[in-house]
Amino acid sequence: MASDLRVRVMLACTECKQRNYNTTKNKRTNTGRLEMKKYCKFCKKQTLHRETK
Ligand SMILES: [Zn+2]
Repeated sequence: MASDLRVRVMLACTECKQRNYNTTKNKRTNTGRLEMKKYCKFCKKQTLHRETK
């Protein structure tokens, strides 16, 4: 079910820069950069993860 509106993005930890998560976002509803708190196994804690290319 591929759609032009779904784009694949990586979420990278803003502290250690590791790319921990793959996700998709809807271009129409998420026009800015995704940011979310997620567990980073490298930092061993919850950190802010940000969309990266
Ligand atoms: Zn980290």
